[in-house]
Amino acid sequence: MESFDYCIVGAGVIGLAIAYKLSKHNKNSKILLIESHHQFGSETSSRNSEVIHAGIYYPENSLKATLCREGKQQLYDFCQRFNVPHKKIGKLIIATDNCEISSLESIKHNAYKNDITLTLLNQSDCQKLEPNVNAKAGLYSETTGIIDSHSYMQTLLTLAEQQGVLFSPNTEFLNAEKISNGFNIRLNTQDGEYKLHCRSLINTAGLHAPSIASNIDTLNKKYIPQYHFCRGHYFSYQGKAPFSHLIYPVPAKNTTGLGIHSTLDLSGQVRFGPDTQYIDSLNYDFDSLKQGQLKEQFINAIQRYYPKLDNTKLHPSYTGIRPKLSPAGDTPEDFLIQNHNIHNIEGLINLFGIESPGLTSSLAIADHVMNKIINT
Ligand SMILES: Cc1cc2nc3c(=O)[nH]c(=O)nc-3n(C[C@H](O)[C@H](O)[C@H](O)COP(=O)(O)OP(=O)(O)OC[C@H]3O[C@@H](n4cnc5c(N)ncnc54)[C@H](O)[C@@H]3O)c2cc1C
Repeated sequence: MESFDYCIVGAGVIGLAIAYKLSKHNKNSKILLIESHHQFGSETSSRNSEVIHAGIYYPENSLKATLCREGKQQLYDFCQRFNVPHKKIGKLIIATDNCEISSLESIKHNAYKNDITLTLLNQSDCQKLEPNVNAKAGLYSETTGIIDSHSYMQTLLTLAEQQGVLFSPNTEFLNAEKISNGFNIRLNTQDGEYKLHCRSLINTAGLHAPSIASNIDTLNKKYIPQYHFCRGHYFSYQGKAPFSHLIYPVPAKNTTGLGIHSTLDLSGQVRFGPDTQYIDSLNYDFDSLKQGQLKEQFINAIQRYYPKLDNTKLHPSYTGIRPKLSPAGDTPEDFLIQNHNIHNIEGLINLFGIESPGLTSSLAIADHVMNKIINT
C-alpha cells in the first residue's frame, strides 16, 4: 500500500494553505492533498466576499482575532510576492442614525484590543470619502482589502506542487482506520476504490468536516460538533460602482453576519450581501421561491445607507454557506482546531467551524496547524 506522511482532505483555501506551508517547511515529506470535486476551491472558498478582513469584531485573544491579524499581514505579503491580484481599498463602517454612533465607539474599542486602529469620522468626513453614502458618522479601516481568491488558491496549489505535493482531484475520502503508525485510508476515485496509508491525517473538508470525522473509526463522537448551516445570498449591482471603498452597516445585535454590506471585486463590480438564512441541509440554490421577498429585504437594508439605489440594477448572483458551530441567535463560536491533546488520536487534526475570516486567516491557520503537528 502506498504511504504518505500527510494526507490533507479537502482542497479549499485551508487545505491548500496547509499543503503549501507543510511542503515548504518539510522538504522531504510525502504530502497528498485530495479533493472530491474536479477542481480545487469549489465550495465555500469560491462562494464568499473575497475581503481581506482587518480583524475588527472578534473577541480579544480568540483564534479568529489572532489568526486574522497574523493571516492578513501574511496574505498581503504573499499577494505582493507572488503577484496575486489584490487591493487594500479600505472599509467604512457607517452609522445611519445617531443611536448607532455608540456602537461605532464599541467596535473601535474592540478593534483596539485586537491591535487594529480605526479612525472615527464625522458626517462630513464620510461625505467626502463616499458622497453616495448616507452616514451620520463612520469608522474607517485602512487595512481592509479585497483579493482574487481563485488566483490566490491557484498560486498556493502551483507552489505546493512545485514543492512536491501530490494533488488528487476527483478523489473522495470514504473512511480511515487508526493503526499504530498512522491511518489506513479508503478513497473513492474515478478508477474505483483506492487504499493508502498516511502517518498524519488533516481534515480540512469545510462544510463536510464533521462527516469526515465521523468516518474515522476510533474518534469519539463527542469531539464532532454539530454544524448549523447558514446560507448567505449575494446580489450583483449592474453598472458603475457608486462607492470606492467597502461599505458596511453597524452589525445588528446578536447578528450572525456583518449585515448586508457592499463589496467591490477587482474589476470594480459591486455586489451586496450576504444575508443570513439558516438551512437544514446543504443547498447552494438562490432562494427562488422567496426571491421577491429576499430582494425586498436587500433593498430595505441597502437603502438605509445608499438611498439612491436603483432596484432594477440588483440581480441575484450566488450563495455561500457558513459552517457555524452555534445556532441562530447564539454568540458566534471560535474556530475549532483539534489535535491529539483534545481527542487522544495521534496524527489527527480536525478543523471545524472555519467560517469568516477563514480566507484572510488561511496562512496563519496553516502555521497553527503545523505547530499542532510539531506538538504531537
Ligand atoms: C458567505 C460567506 C462569506 C465569506 N466571506 C469571507 C471574506 O470576505 N473574507 C474571509 O476571510 N472569509 C470569508 N468567508 C470564510 C471563508 O470563505 C472560509 O473560511 C473558507 O473558504 C473555508 O475554506 P475551507 O478550505 O475550510 O472550506 P472549503 O472551501 O469548503 O473546502 C473544503 C473542501 O473539502 C472538499 N471535501 C469535502 N468532503 C470531501 C471528501 N469526502 N473527500 C475529499 N474532499 C472533500 C470540498 O469539496 C471542498 O473543496 C466567507 C464565508 C461565507 C460562507
